[in-house]
Amino acid sequence: MKRNPRHAPPADAARRRAAPVVICYPDDALPPFDAAFFDAARAGMAKIAEITVPPRDARVFEVPAGHFFRIVSVEGPQVGDLNLWNAHDLSERFYSGKTRALHGTHVSTGDRLWSSFPHLRPLATITCDTLDWYGWDADGAGVHDVIGTRCDPYTNSLLGGGEYHYCCHSNLIRALAEAKDMPPEAAEPHIHDVLNVFMCTGFTRDTHQYFMKASPVRPGDFIEFFAEIDLLGALSACPGGDCGDSHSSDAASCHPLLVEIHRPRPGALAGWRPPAANTYSGSHGMT
Ligand SMILES: [Zn+2]
Repeated sequence: MKRNPRHAPPADAARRRAAPVVICYPDDALPPFDAAFFDAARAGMAKIAEITVPPRDARVFEVPAGHFFRIVSVEGPQVGDLNLWNAHDLSERFYSGKTRALHGTHVSTGDRLWSSFPHLRPLATITCDTLDWYGWDADGAGVHDVIGTRCDPYTNSLLGGGEYHYCCHSNLIRALAEAKDMPPEAAEPHIHDVLNVFMCTGFTRDTHQYFMKASPVRPGDFIEFFAEIDLLGALSACPGGDCGDSHSSDAASCHPLLVEIHRPRPGALAGWRPPAANTYSGSHGMT
């Protein structure tokens, strides 16, 4: 946040500020989103599993490569915090920051969720988003952000909120620890910055601070992903509920979320291959 400046602008300040905008990472070099391919695979797909995520808690789920998974709103407006890993290597995990750099602050159909270095390949592709109508509102807010990190007990304590054990960070730790039969201190380093599913967020115009407002999600809405590799996922039903007021406490009204796993129509993936490893040599200038 930039507060009152202590330095006068130089004589050519206006000219400096008028420099042209350059997109840091033009995404037109990425393979285009093949809507026809995914729609053909989605038509006739079959649900093979579903997992209910209780309010103020998290659950893990597995998605085989080439399958779809949906996060579905049930019972009432609710935000979810999503972590994704390579099911066979937890060191390859969702890279929220690079996804933001490539696709912008909020993601929707056609965008990919990218994995951490040295892999940097799509873990999942978003194939349907019933909230894609929302776009950008008058506050500059959108849905499904890759800005926020996840609510956590450390920041809550830092800001005077005291002890709270059901932030998304802690919920994800408990879920991963239970699934992998590891103690919480071993699970915690695997928890990473999230995709904020259904969360409605932006930056204030005056201070550019991260803000949230009540999610427009309603029961029946969903966001759907295609698993590009075998995935392990973890989803927390945020204690903020629809995140229209507060989080990191039991104050908000919270609802469960549903994760559905779908098998594509048989034969629909003919010719499809999981994404290859990143082509960078890894030498970093050293021989
Ligand atoms: Zn949360």
